[in-house]
Amino acid sequence: MDELIAFFYRMKWPHGFRCPRCQHPHAYTIVGSRRSLPLYQCLACRHQTSLRAGTALEKSRTPLSKWAAAIQAMSLEHSVNAVQLMEEIQVTYKTAWSMLRKLRQAIHAMDERQPLTNKVEAGVGYYEARRLRCFIAHPRIYPVIVGLAYNDNHETIYMKMKPIKPEHYPDFILRYPGEEAFRNRHVRTDRPVKILRNIPFCKHDLLPVLFKQAVHWLNRVFHGVSRRYLESYLDEFCLRRNAKLHRLDPFETIAACSMNIVCKNPAQFDSLSSVA
Ligand SMILES: [Zn+2]
Repeated sequence: MDELIAFFYRMKWPHGFRCPRCQHPHAYTIVGSRRSLPLYQCLACRHQTSLRAGTALEKSRTPLSKWAAAIQAMSLEHSVNAVQLMEEIQVTYKTAWSMLRKLRQAIHAMDERQPLTNKVEAGVGYYEARRLRCFIAHPRIYPVIVGLAYNDNHETIYMKMKPIKPEHYPDFILRYPGEEAFRNRHVRTDRPVKILRNIPFCKHDLLPVLFKQAVHWLNRVFHGVSRRYLESYLDEFCLRRNAKLHRLDPFETIAACSMNIVCKNPAQFDSLSSVA
């Protein structure tokens, strides 16, 4: 248990304790009973905080060991769905679903702070939720913008996959509001960014290969994902790939997201390397 506390402590405060109220770097540790986690009382303002406060684990009564197991399962290439997690860590379906949802929200919060930079290439792919297919296929096909950022050696440094919101669908005349929204929200570069209206159908090209892998994963592990949750599942897919691009351990990267360190330090994705 002490090792787990130390691990989550390091994920939350990689540079040592910081009071959430006054940023003071020192605290007393108030050791709780055997079942509860320690409290940390700021030496300057006496504010008390805990490991779970302000993180994805806040208000959860699920033990740290089960959270660590859930993060471990999500860090693997095939990841885990709620039914599998329920069986793996012996919690209810509702708890398993809620844990995965909170982890994906934490990943999403990290991704929102990391734009595509330098050389950016993007194109629109079409996600069809296979098991949700109905006779009228159209409403179940969701356009997704797949974006890649490259460094000057043309090595991939970051990827994103963002569904286009219905209000941003093209009006088929001149405007493509989904592209504008994607550029404004997810791209920071001085270079021109062209968003291809269709991902090129070429098996040697990275955009279609990555998107195909993501679609295959969504339909195989989750049996199709609805529009409401599609963005968070795609964020999860990209997180594992982005961690590997930066030679980070996906387990520690997801744990760091869940402990909110990136939200408190809205710097580059590189900042996570100090944790790994
Ligand atoms: Zn304080």
